[in-house]
Amino acid sequence: MKRIAVFPGSFDPITTGHEDIVLRGAGLFDEVVVAIGVNTTKNYLFSLEQRMAFVEQTFAGHSNIRVTQYEGLTVEFCKSIGAKYILRGLRNSTDFEYESTIANMNKSISDGIETILLVTAPELSHVQSTVLREIYKNNGDISSFLPKGIQL
Ligand code: ADP
Repeated sequence: MKRIAVFPGSFDPITTGHEDIVLRGAGLFDEVVVAIGVNTTKNYLFSLEQRMAFVEQTFAGHSNIRVTQYEGLTVEFCKSIGAKYILRGLRNSTDFEYESTIANMNKSISDGIETILLVTAPELSHVQSTVLREIYKNNGDISSFLPKGIQL
């Protein structure tokens, strides 16, 4: 059976940090599904169409990386596509606290879906969408933190 991992997030915008985790995940799983969560109550900087286009552009040419969007619980989305794994990245102890809680919760409310946490590449540990959004809103240049070819 195909080993499918879902990499969920809002990708507002996708960064070199996300790109690194997905590419490394693609070497570990048969397929990685990059899933853009649609949360109608959240205010995004980039529209869903833009976020989707940036993510698609980033992984174009990678035959085992697929990009899609979903609403609702991540574990329900995983079940709907036959994915038994969730892929996430860890930058620091704050990520660890958050990710371990969500991972255990997702495991308990599903059929044992496992979360696989990959440790960030040290040179990318400071790359964070939230911080990039602030820089961008204040007219700073964030292009070096985005996957190659992404034009905001
Ligand atoms: P969300 O989109 O869910 O608000 P993020 O954009 O912060 O969250 O991250 C989605 C996932 O990508 C999380 O698992 C996060 O830890 C991981 N991630 C984000 N940036 C990096 C990075 N620089 N290195 C490793 N993992 C990262």
